[in-house]
Amino acid sequence: MSAAVEQLLTALAAHVQTKSAEFGSLRIRTDNATLRRHSRDKSYHHESQRPRAVVAVASEAHISLVLSLANALKVPVVAYAAGTSLEAQATLIDHNGIILDVSEMDNVVAVHEEDLDCVVEPGVGWGELREHLKPTGLFFPPDPGAAACIGGMCGTNCSGTLAFRYGTMKDNVLSLRVVLADGTVIKTRNRAVKSSAGYDLTRLFIGSEGTLGIVTQATLRLRRIPTHSSVVIAQFPTLSASAIVVQRLVQSGAPFLRLEIIDDLCIKAVNTEIEDPARKFAELTTIMAECAGGSHDAVSEQLASFKQACGDGVMNLTVATNEEEAEHLWSLRKRAYFSATALRQHEVDKKFTVVVTDVAVPISRLVDILVATKKMIAEAQLVSPIVAHAGDGNFHCLMVVDDNDPAEIERATTVRDKMALLALQMEGTCTGEHGIGIGKIHLLEKELGHGAMQLMRTLKKALDPNNILNPGKVFHLESPSKL
Ligand SMILES: Cc1cc2nc3c(=O)[nH]c(=O)nc-3n(C[C@H](O)[C@H](O)[C@H](O)COP(=O)(O)OP(=O)(O)OC[C@H]3O[C@@H](n4cnc5c(N)ncnc54)[C@H](O)[C@@H]3O)c2cc1C
Repeated sequence: MSAAVEQLLTALAAHVQTKSAEFGSLRIRTDNATLRRHSRDKSYHHESQRPRAVVAVASEAHISLVLSLANALKVPVVAYAAGTSLEAQATLIDHNGIILDVSEMDNVVAVHEEDLDCVVEPGVGWGELREHLKPTGLFFPPDPGAAACIGGMCGTNCSGTLAFRYGTMKDNVLSLRVVLADGTVIKTRNRAVKSSAGYDLTRLFIGSEGTLGIVTQATLRLRRIPTHSSVVIAQFPTLSASAIVVQRLVQSGAPFLRLEIIDDLCIKAVNTEIEDPARKFAELTTIMAECAGGSHDAVSEQLASFKQACGDGVMNLTVATNEEEAEHLWSLRKRAYFSATALRQHEVDKKFTVVVTDVAVPISRLVDILVATKKMIAEAQLVSPIVAHAGDGNFHCLMVVDDNDPAEIERATTVRDKMALLALQMEGTCTGEHGIGIGKIHLLEKELGHGAMQLMRTLKKALDPNNILNPGKVFHLESPSKL
């Protein structure tokens, strides 16, 4: 173990041994199972390293202590909430560092029903928060991976199926408490829904992937749960036909709650897991929408716009008539990621990884990029379902690759890069919601240009001069010309 990490752990252990009310509950874990669990997130990257220790924190004071000591000793620290990120954001790439596990900071500190906001700690899961808030009739919209927690969701500026109506984390977080690299604690702003007071520090930290500070509390904007809703699916002969309809729906301004595309291959994958033949879906590209509002009429109006936009090209159109049916239709989207490998289950004795990648474009370019991507996948001879948060012009490829076939993995990462470059040509982004981590560092400068990257480097050096917070993520500290 490096001397600096050893010194850090000894100093932390000394604080724990005092059994003081403030530091007695800090936990330093070095057992194999914990280290192994924190060596990987849900991404396909293999560069992640085993940490020297996992330090599980229970309070802001713990985080402040850990960072002030780590900063003095220049020990890398990576915050870890649920580890569902998809670009190796929550793991170390320098093994002489520690993981800061915030998952045990899981208190809902306050719910201000009258102001439609709540204050939570970073280890609160979005699913648990929904359950907690249910009796109030309010909810917090962002819905990424099922286990994800608020700290990590701030880290990646996640979104999900509800971003079409409610926006991303950046649109739904009012304020943060953050511990900076040297242990200083700051608040980014107050709870008012609007403020013109100074720089927008809240948005500076959201999406910074734990490279600028550690979130200890977030004040979240809440929305009222729609009282009426209905799920509808429409199936089309081609991906482009479905994307044209989505463009039309977005341009109509109809306020759907969700607007997704699931391609035919994805449906084939999901079908492999449905036993009852009567419950299987036709293997056609599918648009799935949820219409929701405060009245039956509001929902009917959205359904009518949906049916009208589908036009004559639609092959099947199904509206759920009860909750059970709605749940069955939604299961299609929910199972997409987990079913993908079933497409290659006949290739026994192979171990598969899913290379997940996402891009986003202005809605008018959705058809073009989807058609081009489908062609790239075919040319690269890859098996890759496509799912899209189509209303946002955002889609994912789930490339199922043989873990032991470097040539196939290379073809997948080439498609990933080509998709991203095409999205940039269309004035889109190399990632709509998964973030940069290590997987898209080489694409970020292409997207934003040298000037913006230098400004990010200046900010990073000002906030974290010793580069202890998640080093090696988002961008390299020196510009490529200096490397
Ligand atoms: C099946 C599946 C489906 C998914 N679907 C979606 C989707 O629809 N939309 C979407 O956006 N994403 C999706 N994701 C990706 C993932 O769920 C999101 O990126 C999520 O925001 C990560 O949250 P987490 O709690 O797992 O964070 P982690 O993976 O633990 O961490 C994410 C980043 O945040 C940092 N971090 C953690 N805690 C803090 C803190 N307290 N302060 C500062 N930084 C911190 C970490 O260092 C890391 O850089 C999906 C993932 C899976 C596996």
